Amino acid sequence: MDFTTTLLDWYHREARKLPWRETKDPYKIWVSEVMLQQTQVETVIPYYKRFMERFPTLQILAAADEAEVLKYWEGLGYYRRVRLLHQGVREVQSKYGGVIPSEPELLMSLPGVGPYMVGSIASIAFNRPVAAVDGNVIRVVSRILAIDEDPSRATVRRQITAWVQERFPEGNAADYTQALMELGALVCTPKRPRCSDCPVQPFCRAAREDPERYPMKRKKADVPEERRIVLLITWKGRRLLVQRPKTGLMANFWEYPHFEAAVGDDGKRLAEEWAERNLGERLTFKFLKKMTHVYSHLRWNLEIYQADRGEGEDGSIAIGQWFLPEEEARLSRVAFVRKLAIETLD
Ligand code: SF4
Repeated sequence: MDFTTTLLDWYHREARKLPWRETKDPYKIWVSEVMLQQTQVETVIPYYKRFMERFPTLQILAAADEAEVLKYWEGLGYYRRVRLLHQGVREVQSKYGGVIPSEPELLMSLPGVGPYMVGSIASIAFNRPVAAVDGNVIRVVSRILAIDEDPSRATVRRQITAWVQERFPEGNAADYTQALMELGALVCTPKRPRCSDCPVQPFCRAAREDPERYPMKRKKADVPEERRIVLLITWKGRRLLVQRPKTGLMANFWEYPHFEAAVGDDGKRLAEEWAERNLGERLTFKFLKKMTHVYSHLRWNLEIYQADRGEGEDGSIAIGQWFLPEEEARLSRVAFVRKLAIETLD
């Protein structure tokens, strides 16, 4: 048997039952693929079900308010992706009458849709032979071919894509795409691949040496660090939150006031100066705790300072709004604020 037939036989026996595999609706496949980028299948399943219950069709998602869409995404992270998905869905509604096109060039023109997404939607939903190369596929093919080069290089990426492309079976692009990904997820795992159970072992060069050498690892750059002061300011059981700008990263999300500080600066004094400058009030802060928050490109070393504004009746304030804990929980908040709220609110 050739590689593709062997792989498909295995897939038909071993594939997991996943909610997005029970449909050929390109909208649902699109949503699932956006959710699955950088997030584990087990984590995605409940989010996907909840999202589909609320936004079961492209038309309903296109008509929904962005704040509500973000709320249903909260916890999955990568909010830029859901914003682009929402824009893409709206574009399909206005430009193509709500029907997702199957042509790769048209798919590629939609916001947030890159080569991988084009391949997955075109092949899984429309059964078209278009390669979808994600991290799983890169790992599997790098091992099968024992590719001794960094797969982030364009030439290597092209080599892997061409190899996948050449092996599409007649009339069953959808299963082939999913089978390659499934092999990477279940058998050809990053650590300790199960070569002795692997259906394509006879085709695999790395199985004869050390599979974990592949794909070749890139040297990790040091992630820069930033010291930030975070302010928990309370007034009559409420906390002060400010809203982020309407555009840019985490647009419109809410957060506790925070700002960058130089190493060696007095955090308490900076907090008190901030309150005087932004709220026009003299508050006495005390240090509460430290925490870290890591982004892919940056590490924040957070220092939390707390102050109470007293019981005065006047809640008017020059910046931000006051929220009771139950009101705060309903807001879309940035990740470290959610974490801090859970740790510090009863
Ligand atoms: S034989 Fe091992 S290294 Fe090769 S594809 Fe299968 S699991 Fe991966």
